[in-house]
Amino acid sequence: MSSIRPWRDIARRKSRQIMVGSVPVGGDAPITVQTMTNTLTSDPVATLNQIRRCEDAGADIIRVSCPDVESTTALRQITRAARVPIVADIHFHYKRALEAADAGAACLRINPGNIGSNDRVAEVVRAAKANGCAIRIGVNAGSLEKDLLEKYGEPCPEALVESALDHIKLLQDHDFHEYKVAVKASDVFLAVAAYMGLAEAVDCPLHLGITEAGGLIGGTVKSSIGIGNLLWAGIGDTLRVSLSAEPEEEVRVGFEILKSLGLRTRGVRVVSCPSCARQGFDVIRTVEALESRLSHIKTPLSLSVLGCVVNGPGEARETDIGLTGGGNGKHMVYLSGVTDHTVHSDEMLDHIVSLVEKKAAEIEAATTDAGNVTEAAE
Ligand code: SF4
Repeated sequence: MSSIRPWRDIARRKSRQIMVGSVPVGGDAPITVQTMTNTLTSDPVATLNQIRRCEDAGADIIRVSCPDVESTTALRQITRAARVPIVADIHFHYKRALEAADAGAACLRINPGNIGSNDRVAEVVRAAKANGCAIRIGVNAGSLEKDLLEKYGEPCPEALVESALDHIKLLQDHDFHEYKVAVKASDVFLAVAAYMGLAEAVDCPLHLGITEAGGLIGGTVKSSIGIGNLLWAGIGDTLRVSLSAEPEEEVRVGFEILKSLGLRTRGVRVVSCPSCARQGFDVIRTVEALESRLSHIKTPLSLSVLGCVVNGPGEARETDIGLTGGGNGKHMVYLSGVTDHTVHSDEMLDHIVSLVEKKAAEIEAATTDAGNVTEAAE
């Protein structure tokens, strides 16, 4: 169930589109969700296991650190086996960037102003062009250049933007335009102001993030406020939620932010109540169980789970499948917003899981049929 309402529309900033491997970033491409592995990149088996979990969670692009030659050596195996484009994270050592570009990285995260000389920038750009790599400039309030800190006295939005423009200029001077930029800070106000300033100054895609945001709950809240504000203002083409948590959690939070703003859809969007004394079943445990058992569903659809008739029927009208708690262990099930049948507490979980799986299969089949009709017509 979905509906277009003008007060929901977000007008996205018009950015130039670049390709990160096979994934478009910017322009009218879907806003992509990224994460970063925390295994040793030199251990390709452990890194690929983590990459698989992130891919299954929906990651569009995954970044791996390349601090040493052992990492860039393992990178070749990683980029070949990964199903999504891999970004090589490089700091200072430009040779790692050359090796990573050669090893199949789809993008290099490197700040050209930090690698020492114009000749090195030229070499990195040559390697990126030769291998079809994009570059991501990543300005961070915690590692601003000394001259900018002296000029501005402290990290501030203007300093972050100036740093980004300096790095951009180095790439442009070498006729390289396949880049995207981040101006991250752990302070939400600073990051948002910097991104707003940068969005005015450039037309390249922007990679959003609130850096070092914190643990799962605190970092999710902070990222949702910072990234959410920017997305709501139409700014942002790709994002990474930085959490002191497993990378797949970053992916889930990234998608939830985009889903909340109607910018992406993926999997089951659960609408559920906090529960109270009126609940006809244990809402909290039910939602926990449903989220876990339905995490494999990628097809976008909505499910409402409400403890009683106070808000249940209203929410059920807006969702594909609805469940509302009733008396005597019997609960109402709604299909496409309409009252359909009751289910007893004992069978409720299995029943809802099977209804959602059936609905997802129907949507998938309809999408495939529509695709076949379009292809036949072409
Ligand atoms: S929907 Fe019912 S059970 Fe849930 S919080 Fe509201 S009143 Fe309580």
